[in-house]
Amino acid sequence: MEHHVNETGIRIPAWAERVADSLGAGPHVVVSGISVSGNIHAGNLREVLVAEAVANALRQRGEKVRFIFHADTIDPLRKIAPGIPQSYEEYIGHSLSHIPDPEGCHVSYAEHFLVPFEEALREMEMDIEVLRSHDLYERGVYTGVTSEAIEHTEELRGILQDVTNRKMPEHWSPYLPRASSGKLTGMRVLEHLPEQSSVVFADEDGWEDSADYSRGEGKLGWRVELAARWKALGVTFEPFGKDHTSRGGSTDTADRMAREVFHFPVPGRYEYEWIGLKGRGDMSSSRGIVLLPKDLLEIMPPDAVRRIILGRDPARRFDIDLEGGFPRFMDEYRAEAGEPYVPFAHLVTVAQTVGEDVDAAARMLRRGGYGEATRDMDKLAQDLRYARNWAGEWAPESMRLGLLDPAASQEAASRLDDEQRAYLREVSARLGAEMDGDTVQDVLYTTAIERGLKPKRAFAAVYRVLLGKSSGPKAGPFIAGLTLDQVTERFSL
Ligand SMILES: [Zn+2]
Repeated sequence: MEHHVNETGIRIPAWAERVADSLGAGPHVVVSGISVSGNIHAGNLREVLVAEAVANALRQRGEKVRFIFHADTIDPLRKIAPGIPQSYEEYIGHSLSHIPDPEGCHVSYAEHFLVPFEEALREMEMDIEVLRSHDLYERGVYTGVTSEAIEHTEELRGILQDVTNRKMPEHWSPYLPRASSGKLTGMRVLEHLPEQSSVVFADEDGWEDSADYSRGEGKLGWRVELAARWKALGVTFEPFGKDHTSRGGSTDTADRMAREVFHFPVPGRYEYEWIGLKGRGDMSSSRGIVLLPKDLLEIMPPDAVRRIILGRDPARRFDIDLEGGFPRFMDEYRAEAGEPYVPFAHLVTVAQTVGEDVDAAARMLRRGGYGEATRDMDKLAQDLRYARNWAGEWAPESMRLGLLDPAASQEAASRLDDEQRAYLREVSARLGAEMDGDTVQDVLYTTAIERGLKPKRAFAAVYRVLLGKSSGPKAGPFIAGLTLDQVTERFSL
């Protein structure tokens, strides 16, 4: 796979360099905008990672880049996400930044979903600025474009009708003032007072009120806001998913609004496809198929998260396999990263055998011939944590291991036949403390042949008394990783 690595060690994929090449001279503003109406899942992360890759490619070219995550905190709540109490119906139409946290742990509904995502971005050491849209409106960043939009209400309406082929209501306005009830939807804008940066509007009950748009007392409707924010923030690049780029979709309207109303060039674009979770379908907060970035960061390092989420080509749909196919992904990742190589499956075996004891893991790895991986013990401890977490959460049953305690081992041995028990006793007598994995494997095999026991039945006996299963990881290296006491205690029957 062709790629470069930037000075912070993050890989820049070739597709991102091609996108960067298609963008003009800087300075650049790269934006990724995401709703905070529910869990921000690993599918949403794909958009941010696409933007990051392009931002990094631009930086590598020597451009000045502002990389922004635009959290749509002022957006109205549209529907009740799974897990949100039905009583939240009363907040439909209210800004997410003005709605209480359903679990009471953050200052608002928006923050409840945004903060964990922000933490994941921090853990990934992403060089990104997180902006909250309610804050941008309150600080007046959108005052100019809001005024411009209201002044051009008729042209904006015309574009919307043209592109979507739907007739807009008679009192349609690009601006949604917030009523005293807290609602943003259902108001009728009556008059624009540009000098006071405010509008006069009729609320749901017909009462007249006013809203100051330089202080966040309302927002632009979503489709208009998209084009307006390009201008207000000076956006030069933004990736979009297919939900926005379909015909008549929000990018179609925003492109025309940018050119014809705001007189601002349409930013560079990249259309990414969605990702799914193997065996479960596309990720979707509203359907409850949610994999959070932190779930991924529990089983792999940040750069591996970048790799698995982007895939080889983010313009193509891709199912993440965190189950049976994951060890191979990790092996490819380590090989490309040029790290000391321990097959992930072996690390998983070691992690499950030694628990949290990193020194025991190091001994086991050295005996297995992976001494190089024990030079950096902090890294080893982290890698073992990833492997252990993966085993606990995602590993197929065949890879889940636990060394049987002596009593359970004895119980398992009682169900073997005499030949198998005698075989284990002899193996036990032949094993030595300093044997490496290959030597142990050889002892297991030749002892079986010498005793006229079929190797398949011999190895089944080994797995039964150690793991309570009929098969398992390669027996020689696994046994070599245990202490001699652990083995003889279970083999001397
Ligand atoms: Zn919370």
